[in-house]
Amino acid sequence: MSNSDMKLVVVGAAGRMGQALIRVIHETEGVKLHAAVGREGSAFVGKDAGELAGVGPLGVPVTTDPLQAFLDAEGVLDFTTPATSVAFAGLAAQARIVHVIGTTGCSAADEEKFQAAARHARVVKSGNMSLGVNLLGVLTAQAAKALPASAWDIEIVEMHHKHKVDAPSGTALLLGEAAAKGRGVDLASQSVRVRDGHTGPRPAGTIGFATLRGGSVVGDHSVILAGEGELVTLSHSARDRSIFARGAVTAALWARDKKPGFYSMLDVLGLS
Ligand code: NAD
Repeated sequence: MSNSDMKLVVVGAAGRMGQALIRVIHETEGVKLHAAVGREGSAFVGKDAGELAGVGPLGVPVTTDPLQAFLDAEGVLDFTTPATSVAFAGLAAQARIVHVIGTTGCSAADEEKFQAAARHARVVKSGNMSLGVNLLGVLTAQAAKALPASAWDIEIVEMHHKHKVDAPSGTALLLGEAAAKGRGVDLASQSVRVRDGHTGPRPAGTIGFATLRGGSVVGDHSVILAGEGELVTLSHSARDRSIFARGAVTAALWARDKKPGFYSMLDVLGLS
């Protein structure tokens, strides 16, 4: 460990992603765990964050005091809930540090608050922090641009573990946005989020979503482009949460010397 290591706070430290983040910070050069924040009333509060994440004691107890945790920190890694991320965005803006937001299911009003916070903080936000999915987004936009909407239907299928609380996934929406961008249309006006009962034939040009939930699936996504007599499928399968955690740490290091602003993983990976 060196003095120049970037000091990172993990919020939602007891969560599935929180634990993966603590492990990845521990094994990555150039970063160190500065503080770990848990939810008020959680059984994890006061326990050593490293022991909880299975990497041995790190001397960083889980706290419920974000103000104290953000003191002297350089970045916050946040995979929690929309309301929590909005609250942390205000604190990260006050502290003028890096805020990496992986939380999904955020509303348009939440997004406005993140944009406002980005006037002072360096915010990197993405519904998926993995290199593979961001590349898949670029390929999806290219495919959607190349194949005419009058003859090719786009459907996005995703499956996640049974504990996931939002649908469609942030990644499915990211891929839908990429498809809409490729076609030069607005996703909100073209998306079909559910189908049930007598729906009638599929309107041309729409972008459909299908959501599957079950077991322990970390995240599977397919973009299906269906034409007359042929089908193109672009897909990604996440086998391990560490891909998102590594992406979040890469994003924090990338944003360390950037100006305040709102950035995406495409900026971090040089794919924008
Ligand atoms: P989880 O429920 O396991 O973890 C969330 C944690 O946040 C919990 O431990 C909870 O106690 C904590 N939390 C909630 N409010 C808090 C508060 N006020 N202060 C401190 N901690 C608080 O969920 P998860 O599977 O880790 O996913 C978290 C989020 O990240 C979800 O929105 C999920 O969709 C998203 N996610 C994003 C990516 C990506 O690459 N962008 C990848 C995986 C998951």
